[in-house]
Amino acid sequence: MRLNRKEVAELLKNVQGKILITTHKNPDGDAVGSSLGWFNFLKKMGKEVRIIYRDRVPFFFDFLPGIGNVEVLEEIKEKFDWVIITDVSDPKRTGFSEILAEKSLVIDHHITAEPFTDYAIVEPEISSTCELSYHIMKLIDENLIDMSVALPIYTGILTDTGGFNYSNTSPETHTVAAELLKKGVNPYEVYTNIFERNRINKLKLLELVLRTLSFELNQKVAHITLFKRFLEETGAYPEESEGFINYPRSIAGVEVAVFFKEIEGNSWKVSMRSKGRVNVAEVAKSMGGGGHRMAAGFEAEGSLEEIKRELLKKLEVALEKAHYENL
Ligand code: 5GP
Ligand code: MN
Repeated sequence: MRLNRKEVAELLKNVQGKILITTHKNPDGDAVGSSLGWFNFLKKMGKEVRIIYRDRVPFFFDFLPGIGNVEVLEEIKEKFDWVIITDVSDPKRTGFSEILAEKSLVIDHHITAEPFTDYAIVEPEISSTCELSYHIMKLIDENLIDMSVALPIYTGILTDTGGFNYSNTSPETHTVAAELLKKGVNPYEVYTNIFERNRINKLKLLELVLRTLSFELNQKVAHITLFKRFLEETGAYPEESEGFINYPRSIAGVEVAVFFKEIEGNSWKVSMRSKGRVNVAEVAKSMGGGGHRMAAGFEAEGSLEEIKRELLKKLEVALEKAHYENL
């Protein structure tokens, strides 16, 4: 059942029993920020909460209050009264084969969302799950939004908007950020913690990945590739490739950037970014994934050549469609 902000606020005021909070695998800033923000907030409400991820937290989020509470498990065997899943609307993307809970709630902002839970709030227009969560928290009890909540929430807004630069940034996003700053968030501290603690390994990885830069479809598509061996060669962590896709997108004339990441021999993770004309969420969805108009992704099995061929066919159609829509 779809709920509005007020209904979610009422529901969360009344949740009882053992609550599990989780998010998507390979958690990004919005995933960590929203799930940890809710964990700290619900604790303040006096609820019994646990926070469990399938994948470890990237080190650059280690400054967030309460991050040490995150448990990383391959499967969740215990049964909960409630599960709250943030920033994801696809059960596969939690990384868990099964989550046992009496009742479930999704809080998300993906346009391709097809909620699979008892309750869901999905606002595709909003910048981030963190911004949405903040509005709901305010409806519950603004006084509970202390630094332990404000800091993770600000972090998710910052990362999902690319530092308040992407098209999902609204006047409301800045208002929320202003309110979080008034609560004590220091933007420079957050920025330096996340973006200015790069390890040399990451830059070495960037060097190898940028060497794979190639163009297709009249230079409108630029792609880069991360082969698993690059990680071994550089000692970089997979999560350190976050943001690399912005380089191919930044090139003049490029409409869509694609980042192929080898997970295992024949298993690939593909990220896409659009400059705005092409709806990459639609393309990702047709490949079994999802996301937003300008940022989307999917997982695929097969050889890189096969996946590339199939994707380029779809991108060709999407570029043509975008061309006619924008005439
Ligand atoms: P990224 O490329 O940074 O991993 O993800 C960009 C956006 O696409 C995010 O909003 C993310 O949730 C979505 N996305 C990425 N990969 C997948 C996927 O495999 N399935 C779905 N449903 N969404 C994805
Ligand atoms: Mn998000």
